[in-house]
Amino acid sequence: MKEITISMPAKINLSIDVKSRLENGYHNVEMIMQAINLYDTVIVEKTNNRITLNCSLPYVPKDQRNIAWKAAEQFFSHCPCKGGARITLKKNIPVAAGLGGGSSDAAGVLKALNALYDNCLKDIQLFQIARRLGADVAFFLSGGTQLARGIGDELTMLPCLEGVDVVLVKPDFSVSTRWVYENFDPDLVEKRPDTSRLISAIEAMDIKTLAGNMENVLESVTVRKYPELQTIMDRFIEYGALGSRMSGSGPTVFGLFIDPPSAEAAREKFMKDYTNVYHCRTIGRGDFYG
Ligand code: ATP
Repeated sequence: MKEITISMPAKINLSIDVKSRLENGYHNVEMIMQAINLYDTVIVEKTNNRITLNCSLPYVPKDQRNIAWKAAEQFFSHCPCKGGARITLKKNIPVAAGLGGGSSDAAGVLKALNALYDNCLKDIQLFQIARRLGADVAFFLSGGTQLARGIGDELTMLPCLEGVDVVLVKPDFSVSTRWVYENFDPDLVEKRPDTSRLISAIEAMDIKTLAGNMENVLESVTVRKYPELQTIMDRFIEYGALGSRMSGSGPTVFGLFIDPPSAEAAREKFMKDYTNVYHCRTIGRGDFYG
């Protein structure tokens, strides 16, 4: 086998709580992450040496700054066999949108390289490399529905919430995750998620309770600066969503819907005002070939 093509999903955050700021600048978080069927295509070809990277978007870095490149670098520094990789990223996941696109690409490169190089690294080694690259990278090795704690890299698998209709609206600006965390002030948080209640709702597949109780404390930063995001959330409810929140540090806002027709109707309404609107579904673990 010389080349692997893998479809790597985006994620949404069904909840985000930031518990405290650590001395090293990281934050202690508790969040529920959910993979959805919006995919980047990651193609990895085995070569004799060197890493090269191509990307369908001109403004995404194509060198060591790309997290997919860093993933390959880390793979080869831990793998006993020598070799190289030609990486091609076909981006569908909006960039710097709170959907975890870069992290997902990086996880895809790790999975593809390990398959191409005869599974020379054990799952636990791959997981440790992913964790060091970024908390979200480790999530994307399996996807599905997971609880993330600590700095986001202590992961627990939850029952998979598959097949729930999700509509995403990505406004025409990007938000830096670093900026959001730097400006996070716990005193400005109005409501924190009840994570145990959300997990019980996931276990019971009670989508209404889940959707109605989703919270993201980072909205206290991003929505304050971009009030348009609150308007999008209000519109989602008006259009029949069971609940609506910002994903990650934004600016993408999503709504959960009871069935495909109501989600499709909302997508069509948002399409009048926004270019990047997607009707997706939540997916289970290992669902990488959409
Ligand atoms: P998160 O939800 O984890 O905060 P995000 O979806 O908001 O992530 P990304 O799309 O991963 O953000 O991009 C964040 C930044 O990383 C961008 O400024 C981009 O230039 C850079 N970047 C590096 N590698 C990639 C990649 N493979 N795909 C997209 N962006 C990348």
